[in-house]
Amino acid sequence: MNGLLICRVRWIAKGLFIVLLISIVTGCGIFSGEKNEQEPTTATPVIERYSGPMSKVMPYVYTAKKEFSLTFNGMSDNVTMTKLLDELDKYGIKATFFLPGMRVAEEPDIAKLILARGHEVENNTLNRLDMSNLSYEQIYKEIRLSNEIIERETGVAPRYIRTRSGDYTDDVRLASAHNGMDAVIVYSLFLHNWQKETDLEKELYIRKYITRGGIISIDAEENTSLLEDVVLVAKAAEEVGYDFIPLGQLIKHGGERKPLEQIEGYDAVRINPDYENSKYNLIYDVMTDEKKITLTFDDWGTDYTVTKILDILAKYDVKVTFFLRAKGAEANPNLARAMIEEGHDVANHTYTHPVITTLTPEQLQEDVVKAHQVITEAIQQKPTMLFRPPTGEIDDKSAKIVSAIGLPNIALYNVTTLDWNSDNSAEDIVNKIMEKTDKGSVILLHMLDDIHTIEALPTVLESLRKSGFTFVKMAELVGLQE
Ligand SMILES: [Zn+2]
Repeated sequence: MNGLLICRVRWIAKGLFIVLLISIVTGCGIFSGEKNEQEPTTATPVIERYSGPMSKVMPYVYTAKKEFSLTFNGMSDNVTMTKLLDELDKYGIKATFFLPGMRVAEEPDIAKLILARGHEVENNTLNRLDMSNLSYEQIYKEIRLSNEIIERETGVAPRYIRTRSGDYTDDVRLASAHNGMDAVIVYSLFLHNWQKETDLEKELYIRKYITRGGIISIDAEENTSLLEDVVLVAKAAEEVGYDFIPLGQLIKHGGERKPLEQIEGYDAVRINPDYENSKYNLIYDVMTDEKKITLTFDDWGTDYTVTKILDILAKYDVKVTFFLRAKGAEANPNLARAMIEEGHDVANHTYTHPVITTLTPEQLQEDVVKAHQVITEAIQQKPTMLFRPPTGEIDDKSAKIVSAIGLPNIALYNVTTLDWNSDNSAEDIVNKIMEKTDKGSVILLHMLDDIHTIEALPTVLESLRKSGFTFVKMAELVGLQE
């Protein structure tokens, strides 16, 4: 029979593509060996859509550790791949290579070399086809055959699958699970070919996407500045102080996140139309005889900025309260979680950062409730129950509206330095703080990118300490009962 004859073909590298295509069509495994030849060649078993749970999808890994992964899609020619491996060695980077099974079959030595140099090899599907155009059976086989080739040639069984573009469908997730794989991997940054960016623009762009638990993807076949990009990524990682580790290790270090509904206090802030009689406290500072003060940081920033703030605070052993723009935390929850793991408090500064007095009661409540939920899920615990209005703008009505949903304590401030304006130098920031801070002060700073707060912070902490002040978190300063 035809199928039997085809199964008998002894493949060679050049003819492999045809053999594989035929074997996909006939359903006869190309690596089935002698045993298969004895089997009757009756109807090819049809691959039914998997009925178990889909593989999970990972665009990044849940972790607050200062580490992330560099991954490559596809396999370029021998010369390019060897240069790439040399470049990675130069920076001590261990990466993860998603290889197409077909290319591994053609040039198995490259795959072996990748492993020998300490990197990981995973599955980029057999031919890197657009999965959205394939039947379930075709998708299943694109994954399975690629797994078989990679394992046969390298001895390593892939655990993760990624398509050429990183896009996936439910069928890809099902076929991944069907093949016993651990996850469908996406990316937190796909580094495409540059257009006309200057070197500085490239650096700043990449810096923005260096995140804890991040998965950076570069296409080794299509990217025209592969080596340059490795240098850029390595430099950006060094600047923020994060380590590259292979994806398998990153995933192992990461954790499972509890869904929102399983976190205690997730519903402590709820829509409540009945706000007319709500009571609230506007807190600017605290009356106290002790030289206690609190530092607060508003808004959101990149890992580059926020990690620098966290590192300085750790160095001086000062704990603060972060008021988050929740939309930022939603996109990068690991950074919000890092604040908690370093012992700081995290609180609500709205989701979209509107001037709250301009919103309808419904809009305002929706925004702040959403912020509560996003922050709760990001930090995996109930946030500190303080609310700070963007720009400090608040009136009696909006205070009642926010209080009614479960946030009666409005966290304002009495020391502001306008540090959010990059025209204000580090010296300006230090001077304003030293001039205005008194017992019980609440100091407002920002964690925005490209302002001078980081520069000012060490001097601020040293000078305040020298003046006899001690730092507590805002909830403690105001005696908030949790
Ligand atoms: Zn703000």
